[in-house]
Amino acid sequence: MIPSILPTYNRAPLTFVKGEGSWLIEADGRRYLDLGAGIAVNALGHAHPALVAALTEQAQALWHVSNLYQIPAQQALADALVEATFADTVFFTNSGTESCELAVKMARKFWYEQGQPERVEIITFEGSFHGRSSAGIAAAGSEKMTKGFGPLLPGFRHLPFGDHEALKAAVTETTAAILVEPVQGEGGIRPLPDVCLKGLRDLCDATGTLLILDEVQCGMGRTGKLFAHEWAGITPDIMMVAKGIGGGFPLGAVLATERAASGMTAGTHGSTYGGNPLACAVGGAVMSIVADPAFLAEVNRKAALLRQRLEGLVAAHPDVFEAVRGSGLMLGLKCRAVNADVVKAGYAEAVLTVPAADNVVRLLPALTITDDEIAEAVARLDRAAARLDAAA
Ligand SMILES: *Cc1c(COP(=O)(O)O)cnc(C)c1O
Repeated sequence: MIPSILPTYNRAPLTFVKGEGSWLIEADGRRYLDLGAGIAVNALGHAHPALVAALTEQAQALWHVSNLYQIPAQQALADALVEATFADTVFFTNSGTESCELAVKMARKFWYEQGQPERVEIITFEGSFHGRSSAGIAAAGSEKMTKGFGPLLPGFRHLPFGDHEALKAAVTETTAAILVEPVQGEGGIRPLPDVCLKGLRDLCDATGTLLILDEVQCGMGRTGKLFAHEWAGITPDIMMVAKGIGGGFPLGAVLATERAASGMTAGTHGSTYGGNPLACAVGGAVMSIVADPAFLAEVNRKAALLRQRLEGLVAAHPDVFEAVRGSGLMLGLKCRAVNADVVKAGYAEAVLTVPAADNVVRLLPALTITDDEIAEAVARLDRAAARLDAAA
């Protein structure tokens, strides 16, 4: 008999009833050190006092008004994002998937309005993840996501990761945009080297192609810059954001330059909940903390500490781990053991990690994780690895 929840997830037998910072707590009081943070969603940990305050204050005043009317919390968050980034304008969504939908629509509408309606093709890369809608799965293109769901939305071209010659050859007079994650998340924490991002920008400039960055997972301070592309010193034309921006409240956004957004006039796009007052009140509180250079400096300091400790962990368990990779507090342990077994051994030691493709275990802790929690996390991962050493 089908379960009452559609069985599309492989859930662990863990049930949390409370969260505090980097900790998740079961009903019996057992405390888990959370290095997954809801897959980079709980950027400020669980129940951050500033977010609880922003949410409850807004909840007492007004939960929802339609985008038929002015929404001050939405305006304030848009202004903060425009102030802090390359963007001139922002559209709010409820998820990364919806941000992908709009990014694709915006790029195509741009070329339509430029009088080049044949420029519809969007180039994406192997191992990418852009969400589970029809556009999202067509964009990523992996059989795991698309099989059985055809006919797929046409107009996507998938290239190997890191093949510069294939990329140059693929950009033609029908290319609308290149869509890429600066650091692949689901694909196994694969950072695009800065020179490649710069090369992508140059290629886009030379051919007029729009550059769309998917920073749904790697953005909002995760890599130690507010957005990951800042490390490469380039800017996109369009950027997808979600996950961390809401700190646990459903919120996403598409950021764009005035030029890239120029086709999106009144009536061309909309969302009932997108930019809802509750979401934007929380998002505003997240932004005011994460965009602070002193906060980002702390993220970088702690990222270096965690990475150094993880290098030690890998060296101590060469049969379990192969290497550490990633950027900032978006780290991956490339495994020699089966990554799912490593995650499971972590459950036994009350430390939560997230599997990814390419046999990687992801560490995406709250950006507020403390030095003591980093030490405790690595101690627990060490004990988890020892379980696998013993079992081998
Ligand atoms: C999670 C994710 C998405 C999809 O976001 P949802 O909020 O699950 O719709 C898109 N792109 C990337 C890079 C992601 O990590």
